[in-house]
Amino acid sequence: MKSDELISGTTTICGVIGDPIAHTMSPSMHNAAFKACGLDYIYLPFRVKKDELGRAIAGMRALNIRGLNVTIPHKVAIRQFIDKLDDMAEKIGAVNTLVNENGIVSGYNTDAQGFLQALLERDIDPAGKTVSILGAGGAARAISFILAERGANLIILNRTPEKAGECAGRIAQYFGREARAMALNNQNLKAAIKETDILVNTTSLGMSPDVQQTPVTADLLQCGTVVFDTVYNPLQTRLLMEAEKAGAKTISGIDMLVWQGALAFEKWTGQQAPVDAMRTAAIKRLTER
Ligand code: NAP
Repeated sequence: MKSDELISGTTTICGVIGDPIAHTMSPSMHNAAFKACGLDYIYLPFRVKKDELGRAIAGMRALNIRGLNVTIPHKVAIRQFIDKLDDMAEKIGAVNTLVNENGIVSGYNTDAQGFLQALLERDIDPAGKTVSILGAGGAARAISFILAERGANLIILNRTPEKAGECAGRIAQYFGREARAMALNNQNLKAAIKETDILVNTTSLGMSPDVQQTPVTADLLQCGTVVFDTVYNPLQTRLLMEAEKAGAKTISGIDMLVWQGALAFEKWTGQQAPVDAMRTAAIKRLTER
């Protein structure tokens, strides 16, 4: 391919499927990564309606699309249309990355490993640490399972405590680790935070446009705790501001977003992802809109 050409007859196609899809940051991130590595790849957004999902995957095979990311609302339903499911993705019950090897489509969940990488790149190993997870939805499941596998002690707090209990039950079943489950309220938060090394927000509290919301305020936090907010829009959430006020260390959801993308990139290309180029592109996209 000539260096000034974006697409040629040999270009490998990747993309993302979801509905809605217009908000996605993934094309900016992945096309920047392909460019940084000089790869003859392109990444496109595809709006796929719920009842078209099976046809979309048949299209992926027929058109020899190399890889897809899968986002809302397809992460769970996609499982019935693919050929192989990675063990962790099967446990989590959700897939966010597809790889097509000569018509055989495999599903992975890079959200889980992406979260872990965001900690490890800062030399924070959750093994043996106490981690409090706020929320018990899809992101909480991915994060709590990878943490349980890594050997962290878990406390799960959720507005609907039954869902926290369900998540803890799965952790005991799959990983043989006991996780505590409780209702998300100030009294439980106060008690949990006293013994918490890493606090992770997986609720949607604080997400744009409700940027004034936070699950925890500074008075409840302790200096030295790591506070990881999975919300990445805005980059600096109210929770992260409260954490800074309390002297806690902070990690933004953008790091998890970038790493889940980087791990997908590596599965599609077999090359190490240019993580810094992906982070720069994601931040640019977020701050431009
Ligand atoms: P989900 O399955 O819908 O779960 C939402 C969670 O938020 C549930 O635990 C829910 O509690 C809780 N919640 C919602 N509104 C609340 C409120 N007003 N007060 C207290 N709790 C509330 O969604 P998800 O897929 O897990 O995503 C959750 C968040 O994770 C989103 O903000 C998303 O941006 C973030 N995320 C980030 C990345 C990344 O790469 N950085 C990846 C995935 C997700 P109930 O069970 O009581 O309803």
